[in-house]
Amino acid sequence: MNKECEIVQDLLFGYKDKTLHNASKDLVEKHIEKCSDCKKILNDLEEEENDKEKQEKIEQEKEIDYLKNVNKKMNKKNKLIMIIGIILLIIILLNIGVFIYYYKEARKVQIYIEDNITQEKLDNIESYILNIDKNAKIKYYSKEDALNDMKDKFKENANLLSGYETENNPLPAYFVVETSIENAKKLVSNIESVEGVKKVTSNFNLNPYLLVISNIMVNTKN
Ligand SMILES: [Zn+2]
Repeated sequence: MNKECEIVQDLLFGYKDKTLHNASKDLVEKHIEKCSDCKKILNDLEEEENDKEKQEKIEQEKEIDYLKNVNKKMNKKNKLIMIIGIILLIIILLNIGVFIYYYKEARKVQIYIEDNITQEKLDNIESYILNIDKNAKIKYYSKEDALNDMKDKFKENANLLSGYETENNPLPAYFVVETSIENAKKLVSNIESVEGVKKVTSNFNLNPYLLVISNIMVNTKN
């Protein structure tokens, strides 16, 4: 190896990194034009540098991919948490709805009245109810009301019920009493012994879910 080659090879790193002053740079460029040995060394250096950069780029891409993956997984997890949250919320709201409905319906008592009852006995039943709860909401449905109610439920088949008006009407008159659940229980266990009462029904001993489901079924049938 001649002396110029030695000098040039010492400068090659600097040349590759572009840190040489112009004079040294010119020296290297002129030399490698005629010396294939030094040119090969420079090419090898540059290739090595390229490989390193490529390797770094690959590493970076791998890291980015990893981060993207983590992000995707987090998004999936967040979505799952959100879906579970929404489902839980729907279940909670449905339950609240069912219990609100139950507490509204469970406070109602239907008291069916015997036919041909005297006004005095009817008044007597009413005052018995008010005795248990003086704030009870009492609504009276006559036999006629009951039949019309039934006709409403039958809708297009209402004509099946024609002929049942007047004496033929098999449906009893009834009171619907709205009170507290506590008083509804009292009414149910006591009022059947009052004269003129045929039967008493209430919803409070029904399962709230069954109550809602049965009422939905009755209402969608019609
Ligand atoms: Zn050389």
